[in-house]
Amino acid sequence: MPWPYRLQCFDCHTQFPAQTTNYRCEKCGGVLEVIFRISRRKVPWTKRGLSVWRYRELLPVDNDRFITTLAEGGTGLLHCPRLGRELGLKRLYVKNEGENPIHGARIFQVRGDFDEAMRAVVTLTEHRKGFYLMNSLNPFRLEGQKTLAYEVCDQLDGEVPDSLVLPVGNGGNISAMWKGFGEFQTLGVTKARPRMIGVQAEGAAPIAKAVKRKQDRIEPVTNPRTIASAIRIGSPVNWMKVLHAINESHGNAETVSDKEILEAQRNLASKEGIFVEPASAASIAGLRKNREAGKIDRSDLVVCVTTGHGLKDPSVVDYLPKHEGYTLKTTQLDWIGRLERTL
Ligand SMILES: [Zn+2]
Repeated sequence: MPWPYRLQCFDCHTQFPAQTTNYRCEKCGGVLEVIFRISRRKVPWTKRGLSVWRYRELLPVDNDRFITTLAEGGTGLLHCPRLGRELGLKRLYVKNEGENPIHGARIFQVRGDFDEAMRAVVTLTEHRKGFYLMNSLNPFRLEGQKTLAYEVCDQLDGEVPDSLVLPVGNGGNISAMWKGFGEFQTLGVTKARPRMIGVQAEGAAPIAKAVKRKQDRIEPVTNPRTIASAIRIGSPVNWMKVLHAINESHGNAETVSDKEILEAQRNLASKEGIFVEPASAASIAGLRKNREAGKIDRSDLVVCVTTGHGLKDPSVVDYLPKHEGYTLKTTQLDWIGRLERTL
């Protein structure tokens, strides 16, 4: 049987019934979180295959007949020895979320940036209850994403990474994973939690700036700019959860330039055969900076999360030559040419 659960405001801690249809706290407007009363009892998931639903008992679904699935989860935790050698790491893995089913959705374009699209979709779901908000503002979405942390621990046979590096846009993944690692520790499945290292693009880094300045609030960025579209977010809804995850885990936040992101994207593809969107490559670029600054030890077990397949953002292929202030090297032009032929 699933554990009972409720919703709780991350800011003022007011609790609400799980069935509330609001995406924010009715009292203070803060983001919500699903709270389980979990205890150390035997759980049956070890005999199941790797997927989101392996962890059924830790997910807030009242009845199995409500489950809708495209067999999501169970993505590869890929050992990256060649990239690891270059970065001076003995054990480097990439958790490749781009393997998830993503295809065939009906897409509407919104004129404006991510923050404007976010406002539009929130307004839409407020007025039309038939639409379901699947943005990471929705605490139930984060429940699915937290299984990422469970999977990493299971794929490492119960070992917990020393450092977990991931791109941060709206902050859903890093918040959800920190929650997942915490729940596994509470359940006694694992004994520790990793340091959470969030990576943002230089032109869209409100969270990284707050962490570096040791501030407890972010200053939203107007007109965020970066080639990495999935993290081109100036006003991330989960900023409070992200600051909590980074601070509580004694992690850090890093910023990377578009040039560093594109170099990391190429490097991951050529060295390990993993083609990811630019936002995902930010985690690799951020890892390199952390290594160069001596913040991650050579012997550390490091997992980078790549959140989207390279084909999620193919515009980068023809965007590059037009990108002002960016000098292309011959090798990069070769790489883009090869990619265009593949596409
Ligand atoms: Zn509240």
